[in-house]
Amino acid sequence: MNRDFTLTEEQEQIRELARDFAERELRPRAVEWDEKQAFHSEVMPMLAELGFLGMLLPEEYDGLDLGMLTYLAALEQISWGDASVAITLSVHNSLPTQMILKYGSEEQRRKWLPAMARGELLGAFALSEAGAGSDAASLKARAERDGDGWVVNGEKMWVTNGSAANVLLVMVRTDAPGERRGAHGIGAFIVPTDTPGYEVGKKEDKTGLRSSETVSVAFNDMRLGPEALLGEPDKGLIYALSSLEGGRMGVGAQAVGIAQAALEHAVAYAGEREQFGQPIKDFEGLAFKLADMATRVEASRGLLHKAARAWDGGQAGMKLSSMAKLFCSETAVWVTSQAINIFGGYGFMRDYPVEKLFRDAKVTEIYEGTSEIQRLVIARSLYEERAAKG
Ligand SMILES: Cc1cc2nc3c(=O)[nH]c(=O)nc-3n(C[C@H](O)[C@H](O)[C@H](O)COP(=O)(O)OP(=O)(O)OC[C@H]3O[C@@H](n4cnc5c(N)ncnc54)[C@H](O)[C@@H]3O)c2cc1C
Repeated sequence: MNRDFTLTEEQEQIRELARDFAERELRPRAVEWDEKQAFHSEVMPMLAELGFLGMLLPEEYDGLDLGMLTYLAALEQISWGDASVAITLSVHNSLPTQMILKYGSEEQRRKWLPAMARGELLGAFALSEAGAGSDAASLKARAERDGDGWVVNGEKMWVTNGSAANVLLVMVRTDAPGERRGAHGIGAFIVPTDTPGYEVGKKEDKTGLRSSETVSVAFNDMRLGPEALLGEPDKGLIYALSSLEGGRMGVGAQAVGIAQAALEHAVAYAGEREQFGQPIKDFEGLAFKLADMATRVEASRGLLHKAARAWDGGQAGMKLSSMAKLFCSETAVWVTSQAINIFGGYGFMRDYPVEKLFRDAKVTEIYEGTSEIQRLVIARSLYEERAAKG
């Protein structure tokens, strides 16, 4: 692995630690996990031991407090090893833990965050429903007041870490049936998965990321005490969407890791494969393709790291995070597709590594907001900036 001179010594060491782990523990297992759709449970204690489940959490909650840039540099390497493991870490580190950190009471933080940072509890995030994806404000699952607590009913779709998770951040309606208030009528609740009335449903059979569990969950008269509510009862969607700012950077790092892996495989193969009596790397048409792939991967990483530095400097903003997610994910899909072309017919076969990378890349354009939604967020920021100038 080349030294990244834009990182500090300490950041580079953590990046190398993640790369070593990916090379030793993830790469040798990834194909079998993919074939069997097996959750990568055996590596979770090792990742916990390294502190990778608390990278963004402050030390007072047993986290490593490494900052966004260091976290993303490590996450890219984990994704280089296996993108399914990367999304498990990304969801846990960016969504439920960050929501509790930012919007939870001190009691909630003390109760949940140290165990989550140590990896004793795995987190998940349940916003999407069968009829509410991009239009999350139209979700239908609901929480009704019951004394000083709540009774929750409804169903969530596509919950990453679903059946492996111990605690979910769940967004449900808290507005009254006759007075729906759209985005302002939704609360966020901390739900332990052993709560009576909580049920894990169908596990999805996915194109890619097959060792990441994606399940539906149902809430059947699930009773929650007042301590389960995060912040204000009508601000849950706002909390969830704001946590996606970090989440989208995590997906960006996942995408860069996939693209980097595809690039490396393509360069190696182009040096080995001969046609017309010479290595295919010596055909200019193919060399140009490799050059374009490498340039786009580097540009993606640069944009992602800019977004991370802005976050670490307290200048976080949805525009940069959406740009990074958009560019990194579209790069990953393009680069992995080009890698298949470079492998020719072998690229289309399961015996070679690039078809899995292509399958894993595709979803980075979809979850935590599709590419179309990222473009809307970016365009809206441009209009707001223009309006602010007067
Ligand atoms: C593997 C996987 C894991 C996931 N994990 C989670 C999770 O852990 N938690 C969770 O809550 N959700 C999760 N999701 C759900 C994911 O976030 C949604 O799939 C995503 O937000 C898109 O919603 P949708 O699938 O309903 O598509 P839709 O919203 O129905 O979109 C369909 C198409 O219409 C386009 N579109 C929609 N609105 C607009 C618009 N205004 N302008 C232009 N185009 C538009 C979209 O871009 C897309 O091309 C996961 C999904 C997958 C596939």
